[in-house]
Amino acid sequence: MKVRIEINKGSGFCFGVQNAVNLAEQELHRSGNLYSLGSIVHNKVELDRLKSMGLNVIDYEQFRKLKNVKVLIRAHGEPPDIYKIAHRNNIELIDATCPIVSQLQARIRTGYQKTKNIGGSVVIYGKQNHPEAKALLAQTEGKAILVNNQSDLDKINFKNHIFLYSQTTMNSKEYETILSVIAEKITASGGHPDQLLHVNRTICKQIINRESVLRKFACNYDMILFVSSKESSNGRMLYQLCKSINRKSYFITNLQDLVKISFNNVSSIGICGATSTPQWFLEKIRIRTEELSGNKRK
Ligand code: SF4
Repeated sequence: MKVRIEINKGSGFCFGVQNAVNLAEQELHRSGNLYSLGSIVHNKVELDRLKSMGLNVIDYEQFRKLKNVKVLIRAHGEPPDIYKIAHRNNIELIDATCPIVSQLQARIRTGYQKTKNIGGSVVIYGKQNHPEAKALLAQTEGKAILVNNQSDLDKINFKNHIFLYSQTTMNSKEYETILSVIAEKITASGGHPDQLLHVNRTICKQIINRESVLRKFACNYDMILFVSSKESSNGRMLYQLCKSINRKSYFITNLQDLVKISFNNVSSIGICGATSTPQWFLEKIRIRTEELSGNKRK
């Protein structure tokens, strides 16, 4: 029996990551080398491909020591300090900060300014040590409160204004839960959420759409192959979503992972991925799955 194997049409790079990869490729075709501050994309196979073209991934220590070169800023964005160092060291930045992230940074700066005028705090729902979250915190001179779960909410003063934002790649349902718990705590402290809680729904639409597409996609197949690197925060989140809907969901990072899976009694397989998973790699996974599931001769 032929196994039905399909790639989810909405998977592949989001436009922010695609734009960063395009800008890197343009420069690499032109000059053959380029520095990238941090990994341009949280995906090993794509990073390896760009490195083979001349991309050199550097950390913050290395960046500080560079002079007179070109450095790409990835879609996550960077703190204001990085731009000052670049100016001082005559570093030409190829700024691939996603426009949605730039907008969020600007909104956080506005919220922070309001806390200076009327009091209160900026609260960001995000991941500790995630590069996007670090750059968002830096918009408030490090004064914002980063929360990742309900136990982190103890750090907030519920009696004053709260300007609430989310990192762009967080789970939208969990964000709604966090904001309703904050509203309850304001009420319990004797205040009115309508007056004190200023909610900004800043999870990227590309993430929200992908969540709802994958919810439907994951229940249409006997098995789901979710393709991503472990470093991708959005990949881990979307995989958990698939797993909660289809128990036979597997996290695939490379072609070897497929060999460990039994395709017995499976008549349909759905392949999908994170916003950092390249389309070309999903296609490679599809071809190898065809072979291993018996659709094609090995
Ligand atoms: S997930 Fe959204 S905000 Fe983040 S890089 Fe992609 S398009 Fe931009």
